[in-house]
Amino acid sequence: MGNELRFDGKVAIVTGAGNGLGRSHALLLASRGAKVVINDLGGSSTGGGRASEAADKVVAEIKAAGGEAVANYDSVEDGTKIVQTALDTWKRLDIVINNAGILRDTSFQKMTEQDWELIYRVHLLGAFRVTQAAWPHLRDQGYGRLLFTASAAGIYGNFGQANYSMAKLGLVGFANTLAIEGRKKNILVNAIAPIAGSRMTETVLPKEVVDALRPEYVSPLAAWLCHEECQETGSLFEVGGGFMAKLRWERTRGKVFKLGRAITPEAVQKSWESITDFTEATHPTDVAAGMQPVMDNLTSQSKGG
Ligand code: NAD
Repeated sequence: MGNELRFDGKVAIVTGAGNGLGRSHALLLASRGAKVVINDLGGSSTGGGRASEAADKVVAEIKAAGGEAVANYDSVEDGTKIVQTALDTWKRLDIVINNAGILRDTSFQKMTEQDWELIYRVHLLGAFRVTQAAWPHLRDQGYGRLLFTASAAGIYGNFGQANYSMAKLGLVGFANTLAIEGRKKNILVNAIAPIAGSRMTETVLPKEVVDALRPEYVSPLAAWLCHEECQETGSLFEVGGGFMAKLRWERTRGKVFKLGRAITPEAVQKSWESITDFTEATHPTDVAAGMQPVMDNLTSQSKGG
C-alpha cells in the first residue's frame, strides 16, 4: 500500500467521537497512524447527562487495533481542556474535527429560548472554543487542518430545526472566514454536511435507512479534507450514503438600477424576472467578487453613465 494516505506523526482532536460520525472519523484517522483525542462528554442526543463510557469504548477499540488514542470527557464548551489533552499527551496538534452535536427539534412555534441557546452553545460556541484554543498552535507550527460539521438542515432549512439550522449554517460562515485567515499559515478549513444513520437520525429516519447510511461512508471525505496532501479550503461538501459533492453559491445576473434617482418598490416589481432569473448565473467566491456589480454601478454613475 505504497500510496495509502497516512497520518503518521499527526495529532487529531475529534469532538463527539464517542458515537456515530465522530467515532467513525476517529477510527479511520487512527487506523492510518494519527494519534487521536477522543472527546465525548457522553450525554444523550438532546444534551442531557454525561458519562465517560462512550469515549472510553472508542479509545479501547483504537488501542485494540494497535492505534493510539486518549479520552477526553469535557464538553466542547470547555474547548481549552480538550486542546490541552492533545498537548499534554503528544505535545502537538494538527487536525481538529468539530463534530460534537445534539438536537432540540421542535417547531418554531413551540421553541423555547433554552432550545435555541443549548443548540447554539454546543454547536457554535463549542466549535468556537475548541478552535480558538487550537488556533495559536496551528499558526505557530504553520500547519493545520480544520473540519466543521454543518448540515443540510442549515443549507436548505428543515421543519422543526430553526435552532439547529442557525447553528449549522453559522458554522459554514465561521469556517469560510477561518479559511481566509488561515491560508497563509497553511491552516486549511472546510465544512461537511453529512447524512448518516446514528442515534441522532434514528428517530427521524426508517430503521433500514439508518442501517444503510453508515457513518463509514462519510469519514473518507473527512479524512481526505484533513490530510496534508489535500489543498482544498473554504469549501462545503454534502456527503453520505456513497454520495459526495461540493456546494457553491449561485447568483442571478441580477438587475442594475441607475443611481441618482429613486429606486421604487414598483421598479423592483417590474424587474422581478431579471432579479430572480438564473439563466446567466454567476458563482462569486469571495466578498470582492460579490461586490463587483455594486462597484461597477458606482463607477458608471461617477462617470455619468
Ligand atoms: P451522535 O449523537 O451519534 O454523536 C454525537 C456525539 O457528540 C455524541 O457521542 C455526544 O455525546 C457528543 N456530544 C454532544 N454534546 C457534546 C458536547 N457538548 N461536548 C462533547 N461531546 C458532545 O450524532 P451524529 O449523527 O454522529 O452527529 C455528529 C455530527 O454530525 C453532529 O454535529 C451532527 O449535528 C452532525 N450531523 C449529522 C447528521 C446525520 O445524518 N447523522 C446530519 C447532519 C449533521
